[in-house]
Amino acid sequence: MHRIVFATANQGKLKEIHQILGDTGLEIVSMAEAGVDIDIEEDGTTFEENALIKARAVAEKLPNDIVMADDSGLEIDYLGGEPGIYSARYLGHDTPYHDKNMHFIKLLEGVPDEERTARFVCSIAAVLPDGREITTHGTYEGMIGYEEKGENGFGYDPVFYLPDVKCYSAELTDEEKHARSHRGKALRAMRDELKKALG
Ligand code: IMP
Repeated sequence: MHRIVFATANQGKLKEIHQILGDTGLEIVSMAEAGVDIDIEEDGTTFEENALIKARAVAEKLPNDIVMADDSGLEIDYLGGEPGIYSARYLGHDTPYHDKNMHFIKLLEGVPDEERTARFVCSIAAVLPDGREITTHGTYEGMIGYEEKGENGFGYDPVFYLPDVKCYSAELTDEEKHARSHRGKALRAMRDELKKALG
């Protein structure tokens, strides 16, 4: 039985991965738990390319495991899809998200609701021991709000407003967010594809 090695050090992501991929019956470990410590340059031009770059780099070190990686970010339509694949690096890696969120609120000052649409996007890539590759995707639609609100989630969640439920993403519980989030959708699609691929 192969195990799944997920190329992330993010504990929040790992928790969600365990919750969703747990029912494949496969053991799931992080890259660090698998003893791999490599710095991977994410120089792709799409979320999918970056997820594949990470998964392939780790798979080279762990040829007997199912290796998975994800890449995600926020696309703001009014800004032509920015920050997109640069979401983590936008305004500098170490800049607090409060500053990044306030920056978007300022950039969109006076912009009406219908032009404030945005989405989180997630691509997940898996490399199987026989060389097969699987990619899945998910999106989470919303808009850039007029303030920051909520204590849950991370990153851009406090500025990401959900018109249908009239609250910010950071106001949702983990379970509520995962049920509708980009990563939740991509992970559930990956679970289904993996089950098919492994027979
Ligand atoms: P990566 O997928 O770890 O490379 O990071 C993508 C970046 O996109 C994160 O650092 C956040 O800035 C942003 N991001 C991705 N998913 C979410 C989310 O669910 N909530 C808030 N921000 C997110």
